[in-house]
Amino acid sequence: MVDYSFTEEQELFREAIREWLGKNLTLEQVRENDTKHELPKSLVKGMGDLGLLLLTLPEEDGGSDADWVTATIGAEELGYADISVASPVFYLVQASWGYVINSLASETVKEKYIRRAATGNGFIGIGVTEPGGGSDVAGFKTTFKPNAGGGWNINGEKCYISGTAEAAEVDGGYFVSGFNNRAAGHRGMTAAFVPINYEGVEITKRFDNMGRMAISTGGFKMTDVNVPADYQLGETNRGFYNTMEGFDAARVLVSASCIGAAQRAMEIGMDYIKERHAFGQPLAKYQGIQFDLADMVAHHEAIKTLVYKTAWMLDKRYKENKYNALELSKYISMCKYLAPHHALDTFRRVLYWMGAYGYTKECPLEMGMRGVMSYCIGAEGTANIQKIVISRETLGRDWTKTR
Ligand SMILES: Cc1cc2nc3c(=O)[nH]c(=O)nc-3n(C[C@H](O)[C@H](O)[C@H](O)COP(=O)(O)OP(=O)(O)OC[C@H]3O[C@@H](n4cnc5c(N)ncnc54)[C@H](O)[C@@H]3O)c2cc1C
Repeated sequence: MVDYSFTEEQELFREAIREWLGKNLTLEQVRENDTKHELPKSLVKGMGDLGLLLLTLPEEDGGSDADWVTATIGAEELGYADISVASPVFYLVQASWGYVINSLASETVKEKYIRRAATGNGFIGIGVTEPGGGSDVAGFKTTFKPNAGGGWNINGEKCYISGTAEAAEVDGGYFVSGFNNRAAGHRGMTAAFVPINYEGVEITKRFDNMGRMAISTGGFKMTDVNVPADYQLGETNRGFYNTMEGFDAARVLVSASCIGAAQRAMEIGMDYIKERHAFGQPLAKYQGIQFDLADMVAHHEAIKTLVYKTAWMLDKRYKENKYNALELSKYISMCKYLAPHHALDTFRRVLYWMGAYGYTKECPLEMGMRGVMSYCIGAEGTANIQKIVISRETLGRDWTKTR
């Protein structure tokens, strides 16, 4: 028998954060953040005080040992509250990449950077994408050379990186991977924690994005950045695999935030069509609108079920060693392929229900549309990259080699 229910603890967690977000992150506040291009410090600190940031980490490292289903609930609720998906980025990058970074980090990195991020006084993110392209991780140019102190001398450039301005402000840092042995291909990559304010690191720009304006997206250059040995993350030559593990956890949470945002869009739309009249009756009475809604609701429930099933599989992997990374990757990629597109489609359709009002900034929907589109393109892999994984794990590797 399959049990689809949440535990009492998970239900209480959902209720508690929905109530807190309902007070601290209203749609008006989201609009203000979007316009001012920043998240209020009180919001970030409040998320830290609530135990929302890095909740997946063990308690001794500043987390609350939350399972992945609980972390997924958090991501869904944040997407529901902040349809621009700016604050969900802050949450999910840290909850997912933070978990992986913490599992690979030395006590020094934990003490200096990770535990601080858990309280909302720090930031840890992911610096993977390079100017030459983000999809092809094994094609990156960043190099790791052994330095005299037993650590790494790092050179390279990263771009379209979430949270560079916020990280600089609180002296945070990034998971960065590069080649220590290019001849070995993806088996010659290593990862390290690179503090954004470290000697040799220079923030090159803040991109003027079209959406999720309240969190920065920037680039940084690393010129002879010498990190000590205890800033290495995981084993030498495992950087590619560590990167893939970070993607896996983050893709599930990204998908959940898109589900939350899509749910809010439908609710905003339903309120509107019950009020707005045309040809003598509310829009909600027209079957053309009802069928549109039915289509969205059916897709929504199917994709949401997939997202929670995949979070459950992640828990089975980490707690019971039940699924291996490849078995999971197909499900994770199906979530990341479907959820952002579903959210984007939902925003577009509901926005059409609202006619000209939907096209204005008086209506919150355009913020959501701009925000969730970022997840169709980037952040943990494009739609085509998810399709590559899904077909590879369905057809077999011999049919789907990319190089
Ligand atoms: C708002 C935002 C925030 C981001 N934050 C971060 C961050 O915090 N950290 C980080 O590391 N990155 C981040 N990114 C970057 C993101 O992960 C990349 O944009 C993404 O991986 C794609 O890389 P690219 O943009 O270089 O596109 P490319 O890799 O150049 O791809 C361009 C297009 O070609 C397609 N394509 C590529 N290869 C294939 C193939 N083999 N078959 C078919 N199609 C293919 C892609 O699907 C895409 O449509 C962010 C991006 C955005 C938009």
